[in-house]
Amino acid sequence: MFKVNENYLKLPGSYLFSTIAKKVNAYKEANPDKEVISLGIGDVTQPLAPAVIEAMHSAVDDMASAETFKGYAPDLGYEFLRSAIRDNDFKARGVDIDLDEIFVSDGAKSDSGNIGDIFSVNNVIAVCDPVYPVYVDSNVMEGRTGTYNPETERWSNVIYMPCTKENNFVPDFPEQTPDIIYLCSPNNPTGSALKKDDLQKWVNYANEKKAVIIFDAAYEAYISEDDVPHSIYECDGAKTCAIEIRSFSKNAGFTGTRLGYTIVPKQLVAEDGTALNPLWARRHGTKFNGAPYIIQKAGEAVYSEAGKAQTKEQVAYYMNNAKTIVEGLKSAGYNVSGAVNSPYAWLETPEGMTSWDFFDFLLEKANIVGTPGSGFGPSGEGYFRLTAFGTYENTLKAIERIKNL
Ligand SMILES: *Cc1c(COP(=O)(O)O)cnc(C)c1O
Repeated sequence: MFKVNENYLKLPGSYLFSTIAKKVNAYKEANPDKEVISLGIGDVTQPLAPAVIEAMHSAVDDMASAETFKGYAPDLGYEFLRSAIRDNDFKARGVDIDLDEIFVSDGAKSDSGNIGDIFSVNNVIAVCDPVYPVYVDSNVMEGRTGTYNPETERWSNVIYMPCTKENNFVPDFPEQTPDIIYLCSPNNPTGSALKKDDLQKWVNYANEKKAVIIFDAAYEAYISEDDVPHSIYECDGAKTCAIEIRSFSKNAGFTGTRLGYTIVPKQLVAEDGTALNPLWARRHGTKFNGAPYIIQKAGEAVYSEAGKAQTKEQVAYYMNNAKTIVEGLKSAGYNVSGAVNSPYAWLETPEGMTSWDFFDFLLEKANIVGTPGSGFGPSGEGYFRLTAFGTYENTLKAIERIKNL
């Protein structure tokens, strides 16, 4: 008789977005005449840029001829894409990354969920609270949890670092020393971003403690302030302590197309001298058979002159929504943060309302769907996330409704 992986039975509660979907569907069924606007889920709405579509069409044609047909892609990704990544995302910012430190994948969610494969199950992890749920859930699935304390409802090997307005949404160094530190900047869900000085302190801390930072930079393209680094490797010493994960989803609308990459520097070694780069190469080669040629060609086009201009315009479109949300909410009397270097506004719920109270209130009174902060962790209680990924028209309409509440 087979047995299941018991770690899966330890996973925390029901998935946040399915709970939201259930509530929204029930409301829509009971109120079929109401127009519900979603500023909830973090998915883009603008179509792919023309330069990207053109590259995809031409790559499809390549597949139709015996001379240009492509089968399995190289394990690390095609060199044309890795060179474009190296030159545009790193060299252009003064960072030298070698081609064999770049691992092209089908997205940042898989990479951030899979990266745990190369670490000991006994490592202690530290995550921000509130947190992008993948970091914790994937570690629970791998059994990297330690023992459970029913009183605190916490695992002994999972450190939560509160990020609230008290610390300006920048995590403080924890009391217990972590081995693996997850940082996401610009942050989902709080919308805040780490300044260069703050990130440098974390890099120094990780090097001193011989810890590794998993740096999720999926929202890098939304950075508008000069003192916010786009890559963790802009900080001194990051190559000996950090893995960086990137995505084409939010900067170029690839959420349904699927493309991302991970940087594992060759200088990054464990205490016993084992380098992580060959381990991840082995993992990648064994469990992943390469991102599709057509999609890697589409990714290359993101770095063309036309592609850069067009995707920049898309980001600007969403950031205009972000500005509309922040200004509208502020004029309606809400305390709001984020949405300056990210497409997420993080607002404080009105006095006496929990995150879920406010979710119900907004759904019923304004027919707007957002995401309750408490769904991302206990420190998210009393906060609420609105995203700038809708259309401008819907964003404007939603903000007018909130102002009129
Ligand atoms: C959207 C998002 C990603 C991107 O995931 P993909 O799998 O590349 O679509 C990664 N990290 C965070 C925090 C995100 O919000």
